[in-house]
Amino acid sequence: FVDDLAEGFGAPARPFHGASPFHRADPASTPIDVLDLGITRGDGVFETAGVNHGHPQAIDAHLARMARSAALLDLPAPRIEVWRRAVQEAIEAWGSDGHGAAKLIYTRGIEGTGVPTGWVYVWAEEPEGPIERRDGITVVLLDRGYRSDVAKTSPWLLQGAKTLSYALNQATLREAQRRGADDAVYTSTDGFLLEGPHASLILRFGDEFITPGTDQGILKGTTQGDAFDWLEGQGYGVGARQVRVEEFAAADAAWLVSSVRCAVPITRVDDREMAIDRQVTDGLNAFLLERDC
Ligand code: PLP
Repeated sequence: FVDDLAEGFGAPARPFHGASPFHRADPASTPIDVLDLGITRGDGVFETAGVNHGHPQAIDAHLARMARSAALLDLPAPRIEVWRRAVQEAIEAWGSDGHGAAKLIYTRGIEGTGVPTGWVYVWAEEPEGPIERRDGITVVLLDRGYRSDVAKTSPWLLQGAKTLSYALNQATLREAQRRGADDAVYTSTDGFLLEGPHASLILRFGDEFITPGTDQGILKGTTQGDAFDWLEGQGYGVGARQVRVEEFAAADAAWLVSSVRCAVPITRVDDREMAIDRQVTDGLNAFLLERDC
């Protein structure tokens, strides 16, 4: 648990405040309060970062996104340096040099206290990673039900914030599976490609790699950001813009990218097969997996 977690909140919401701003809890008997608004209302934000060689990956980008998400929810500004240390301490407590992931949870806190709650936990990932990183996934296009300008017209819908309310994202995955696919790509009602329920979308057109722009109510992907740095270093062009749904058919290759799965190639979109770009997939994943900052 992170006690000193937000600007203006030195006092902890719970009684076990010591000299350290962190309280280590046994995951098997962790005292999450039944009145915590993160649980009772999904009212909070989170981040999931990859971990390698004892360090979180892309942590600056994750912390910046957490601050942006918190601002969209009118949560107190998180103390970034305290969260950074909490992540590092959790990784050290885990004690492994291998691949893992760290989750940062920041909620509006126990109802009635007005004091936010935060905690970090870390888990191990299989060293060889998920099979889909090599073999790919099939996706279906699913309408998100919002226009691409939803973040401007209706900011209270919190599109573009990484909130704890992921029941919709989980339902999207189940719907994809009902339709015989592994995953989904959301589309806007005005006909643009957006993102996956747990990942950003990258498309290849010739020597140019494109991701849907984040001004459309989608998350700024930390993995996509690092992927574009690597692709530029390989001499490719990169860009973020609106991408019409019909453009998927013209793409040479496509990936869903996210912190723990890294770059997963897409092998089918609805009924259309897509070839895996083996060279870029393998090069990109080798780079993403070995990041240690
Ligand atoms: N978009 C959504 C909706 C997500 O949930 C995620 C990650 O979980 C991403 C994009 C990719 O973000 P990142 O690369 O920072 O993991």
